[in-house]
Amino acid sequence: MDTPENEKFRDSIATVTEEGKRAWIFPKQPSGKFYTYRKYVSYVLLAILFISPFIKINGNQFMLFNVLERRFNLLGYPFWPQDFYIFVIMMIIGVVFIIFFTAAFGRIFCGWICPQTIFMEMVFRRFEYWIDGDRGAQIRLSKQAWNAEKIRKRVLKWTVFFIISFLVANVFLAYLIGSDRLLRYIAEGPVEHLSTLFSLLIFTGVFYFIFAWFREQVCIIACPYGRLQGVLLDNKSIVVAYDHKRGEKEKGRAKFRKNEDREASGKGDCIDCFQCVHVCPTGIDIRNGTQLECINCTACMDACDSIMEAVNLPKGLIRYASEENIEKKAKFQFTPRLKGYTAVLVILIGVLMGLLFLRSDVEANILRLPGALYEHKEGNIISNVFTYKLLNKTTKEKDDIHFKLKSPKGTIHTVKQGEIIVPAQGLAEGTLFIEINRAALSGDKDKVVIEVYSGDQLIETTRATFLGPRSYK
Ligand code: SF4
Ligand code: SF4
Repeated sequence: MDTPENEKFRDSIATVTEEGKRAWIFPKQPSGKFYTYRKYVSYVLLAILFISPFIKINGNQFMLFNVLERRFNLLGYPFWPQDFYIFVIMMIIGVVFIIFFTAAFGRIFCGWICPQTIFMEMVFRRFEYWIDGDRGAQIRLSKQAWNAEKIRKRVLKWTVFFIISFLVANVFLAYLIGSDRLLRYIAEGPVEHLSTLFSLLIFTGVFYFIFAWFREQVCIIACPYGRLQGVLLDNKSIVVAYDHKRGEKEKGRAKFRKNEDREASGKGDCIDCFQCVHVCPTGIDIRNGTQLECINCTACMDACDSIMEAVNLPKGLIRYASEENIEKKAKFQFTPRLKGYTAVLVILIGVLMGLLFLRSDVEANILRLPGALYEHKEGNIISNVFTYKLLNKTTKEKDDIHFKLKSPKGTIHTVKQGEIIVPAQGLAEGTLFIEINRAALSGDKDKVVIEVYSGDQLIETTRATFLGPRSYK
């Protein structure tokens, strides 16, 4: 069956020609209220991205994702592999939040917050406009033969793109290996750290490839979040939408004629100027309806508003609206689906808070020595031998470590002579004996509760199994 005329746009994507080749997009430089707001948001986000690895809180890097050494800091709090379950909860909260946010507000995240859009539209593309000029000049330049002007502009653009990519790669490396180490490597010189330099150049190459060539295809082809839109959005979701009722009316869109009475003629408010299409970084025509390619960047809203202003028609022909809002003028509703997501989010955040509250700075693992049984000692005392491992997750050394048996009554002796110290972000291990009077034991396997102190401060409470004679009682 042939595709109806008004659905033909679904048979192709704007970035690929009919021959299957790359169709380069030359979006017009956006301008207007939303673009200005987006610029401010991007400055804040870029500042956070670039500064975060260099901020320290209590000696901890503000944000660190050291996958290689399995050390992570979030908002200055160190997380260890032992805290993996907290990470899992955080990830689940992130996913539920994105689902909730997308169901309510579509791809607002893509247009305003996504690093790909921020770097592409607010960094690389702006340098491109500065060097190559706006849409018309860029199209001319691309068709132009390789003369002095084209060579100069291309070399300048590619050099600027490479420098930005290299800078971004350095910042990502600061997240990965830590800013202190990165600054040390820079001070010592790249020759001393050739393997790191090699990794840095690979990162740079990837960023350069994405922003100089692959561009909007990340959002259209590669991004899994983009692919999810089809299932997450419904007709109540607020997205960047063309008001087809107002834009088309009875007679459809039509070019603007001076002094015409558009209302009386039955023509829609869309004057078919194509400004919304020319400005679109993914090359689509929003008048065809919500499409997977749309990253909700608002550029078409600004472009159409300026046209509406020029022809003296109300702004908002393209605006943030749901399908229901356009069809029935319905207002935003907090639907049962959104209420369900909110309830799940509240529960998950409650669980996370609880876990964070219970999480200790020092993690103690006390286990019975494998293969060892109990020992009878003088005075009806039963003794078990244990190994302990203390992990200090903080950047401060924990000294004067000692153990107390909270329950049942008994004593703990460490084998190590002298003071036990757990170094900052380090490990202390050793052996200890727990001695309990046989009368205090209730069976052959008792749970014992052990407290770990640093000086007078209780830093961790842990449990272990204590073996005793079976025949007792
Ligand atoms: S910018 Fe507005 S008026 Fe112009 S084509 Fe797009 S929707 Fe129609
Ligand atoms: S259709 Fe509009 S909001 Fe969507 S990507 Fe294109 S310009 Fe941005």
